[in-house]
Amino acid sequence: MRILITGAAGFIGSHLCDRFLSEGHSVIGMDNLITGNTRNIAHLAGNPNFHFIKQDVTNYLYVDGPLDVVMNFASPASPIDYLKFPIQTLKVGSLGTHNTLGLAKAKGARYFLASTSEVYGDPLVHPQREDYAGNVDSIGPRGVYDEAKRFSEAMVMAYHRFHGLDTRIVRIFNTYGPRMRLDDGRVVPNFIGQALRGEPLTVYGDGAQTRSFQYVSDLVEGVYRLLMTDFHEPVNIGTQLELSIADFARLVNELTGNTAGIVYKSNDRIKGDPQTRRPDSTRARTVLDWEPVVGLNEGLAKTIEYFRSTI
Ligand code: UDP
Repeated sequence: MRILITGAAGFIGSHLCDRFLSEGHSVIGMDNLITGNTRNIAHLAGNPNFHFIKQDVTNYLYVDGPLDVVMNFASPASPIDYLKFPIQTLKVGSLGTHNTLGLAKAKGARYFLASTSEVYGDPLVHPQREDYAGNVDSIGPRGVYDEAKRFSEAMVMAYHRFHGLDTRIVRIFNTYGPRMRLDDGRVVPNFIGQALRGEPLTVYGDGAQTRSFQYVSDLVEGVYRLLMTDFHEPVNIGTQLELSIADFARLVNELTGNTAGIVYKSNDRIKGDPQTRRPDSTRARTVLDWEPVVGLNEGLAKTIEYFRSTI
């Protein structure tokens, strides 16, 4: 297949490029590089099955030749990034999704949207099932991302229902692994960076808020399976292992041998910070026969190694 991947120079996008290339497909990677980095795809230079186009998907898209699949993974995705780029985040989720949908329609391509657990906001239902409509503050600090992704989902379903486009939607829960940016502000790079520098880990609030962390190769497997399955409703991909952020900090200190401990901080990030987050994965299990296979200690060890080599 000939596949367009937007956000190709990002953390998840670059791992998707690797996966599709390893399956023998031809990949066009697109990125405007505001949060992505060509370092993540540098190893693909010279690969005849890979082409990179530096392009902002919020502008009109022109891609030469046939396309079988459009994978839309372009967006700032960390709270720090989307607070820094609020307008771009709203534009990529609205105009970017519209443009990539239009391109898929023109090419007769299958369309795949990277959505997010953020569509559930600060959830009042736990764990989150795909039919839970969420609890989102449209004007809160996360609104620019949450509402852009909710709009994206609505747009994808409209193209599916009105134009008959062959679409997929994945809702991605917290994912970590090599190629995350050390300065993207998310908890995994923050904690590992601090631990490797021998600094105390900064836990925001009381650390009782929870997250479920999955390793990137498990996510990529779920995405691949969903693309190959004829299923049009959203599917959560995330792990059942739910940890408080304070426990997660203790684990990172233990795995890195950091003795500097933890500091509890109150900051602006706390506003709208979801208090719990864990997917109900029944749909992924039954529709995709998917389960995460990489344990947290194993995945973190690989991620720590990656950050050690980049610091
Ligand atoms: N967090 C923290 N310390 C940090 C960075 C994040 O305690 O240095 C917390 C943050 O408040 C949130 C959780 O870790 O409760 C996960 O944050 P992240 O930015 O990774 O993504 P989110 O899941 O909130 O989108």
